[in-house]
Amino acid sequence: MNKVLGIDLGTTYSCVACIDSSGKPVVIKNSEGELTTPSVVFFESPTNVVVGTPAKESATLYPDEVISFVKNRMGQAGAVWNVQGAERTPEEVSSYILKKVVSDAVKALQGENKLAPGETITDVVITCPAYFGIAEREATRKAGEIAGLNVLNIINEPTAAALAYGLGDVNEERVVLVYDLGGGTFDVAMIHITPSSIKVICTGGDHSLGGKLWDDRIIEHVAQEFARQTGSTEDILSDPETFQELALSAERAKKMLSARDRAPIAVNYKGERARVELTREVFDSLTEDLLERTMLLTRQMLEEAAAKGYSIERIDEILLVGGSTRMPQITRRIQKEFSAPVKMFDPDEAVAKGAAIYANRQSYFAQLIEKTAQETGKSPKELREEIRSGKADIQEMARQANLPTDVLGASVDMHIVNVTSRSFGTIAFKSVTPQDGEQEEVLFNMILKNTELPARRVQEFYTVAPNQKTVTIRVLESLSSEEMADPCEGTEIGEAVLELPEGLPAGSPLQIEFLLNENGLLELTATETTHHQEVRARFETADAISEADFSAAKQRLADAMVL
Ligand code: AMP
Repeated sequence: MNKVLGIDLGTTYSCVACIDSSGKPVVIKNSEGELTTPSVVFFESPTNVVVGTPAKESATLYPDEVISFVKNRMGQAGAVWNVQGAERTPEEVSSYILKKVVSDAVKALQGENKLAPGETITDVVITCPAYFGIAEREATRKAGEIAGLNVLNIINEPTAAALAYGLGDVNEERVVLVYDLGGGTFDVAMIHITPSSIKVICTGGDHSLGGKLWDDRIIEHVAQEFARQTGSTEDILSDPETFQELALSAERAKKMLSARDRAPIAVNYKGERARVELTREVFDSLTEDLLERTMLLTRQMLEEAAAKGYSIERIDEILLVGGSTRMPQITRRIQKEFSAPVKMFDPDEAVAKGAAIYANRQSYFAQLIEKTAQETGKSPKELREEIRSGKADIQEMARQANLPTDVLGASVDMHIVNVTSRSFGTIAFKSVTPQDGEQEEVLFNMILKNTELPARRVQEFYTVAPNQKTVTIRVLESLSSEEMADPCEGTEIGEAVLELPEGLPAGSPLQIEFLLNENGLLELTATETTHHQEVRARFETADAISEADFSAAKQRLADAMVL
């Protein structure tokens, strides 16, 4: 079978997994022997790029050459870092992380004789937060392509987590709440699992709330303790070296407190020394508001889920994902709030493992279809349909194609259903006082956030002026859940211009159709219904990396040594 990898491209840490010979997902260690690699890139020189722990340790000393938290900038128009003589987009910076984790994984597998010398792996599935919109998903895919990878799919992190927890294999329906607290982000999602599908019902969270803020609270506390113990009035945190050391020891102390009651932290500054014995109790009280914020966001998401018929009582279990859920305060607080059982294992590996399971199934399924199509002369589409409708037996098909049957299960062709994380709409006029014709601009959301994909909506609008020559349909993406929203809430992602025939009176009807496919690509069709004039537009991503930047980034990566 083709070898494939699942990659959790995280905000603070990334992780790679594959399926071992017994069919189980396993995380592959990097060259430093770690299971996760800090998503930090240090451009030491134009051609020497260091990724991971050594880059993280250089962050404060070389602030202009080290890039962290690149994931927060994915898909953002105009996001670039000018480093070592080149403008680096988030796609390019992420491509170095992907290059490092994949080449380390390949080396490790070669070392274990699971790959032949010189053999490599390029087929991957990368995960992204469920809230990622079109531009961010496309940017993630491009990052993979710059790194020379063949990105089979981009799947949602909560979906991957559910697969890793074995929930894709159960033969009963389950409604699961995924609480994912990573290093830089908090995501919460409700998903509905059936024997043949995993469907994201609702998502929520905060993209700047993560374990790093818990570290920051320790840093502030220790700086205050230093001032108290030494009587110093200096701001020790303004010194980059002291800050860097303290940041690393704060994270170490936080992790230690997940297993023990207390953790010592020492701080040295200009020959003075302070020692702080941080207890779990003090740590919990320093960070209580952060924890409460995750609960508030969870409740907000649950309200939206309830409006879609998924009440709290329907939750069968709660999955904890993300390294920060190892903090005991998380499980305790969730158990206080909800009655459903809380499950946690390998929280910082679950997403990568789920991606590996999905990648393996997808690759297997593609081979099965390809081989069977060759042997039977049927088209791949026909075969997929036969499997889906139950007309063809997948086990039998595998035997005929001489492929292993042990990766099969009810869910091998699992249907993964997603919802849109944004609303998509257009600017329309709403009559404020119809008598005197006063009009107000509104953002009319055609497809609302959390609608199942693919989604389609057709709506009638009207021309405003007599003999209007054109209609410009401006398309906006927003986080609003209201059909009529304030235009300021949206971000314009493109526009389409519909030419109108001569002499149309004001109030002539126009039909606008929005079609959002499974991958989040939006297509728009506008028709002037009197004479059937049509205009079509496709909005992939207004913020995509340009062809020229893509090629230049690819070349720079090919010329660089990535360590
Ligand atoms: P992730 O992005 O899911 O890899 O999560 C990384 C975050 O988890 C970082 O903020 C880590 O400091 C945090 N983390 C990892 N292990 C632990 C632990 N044992 N206790 C507390 N936080 C942890």
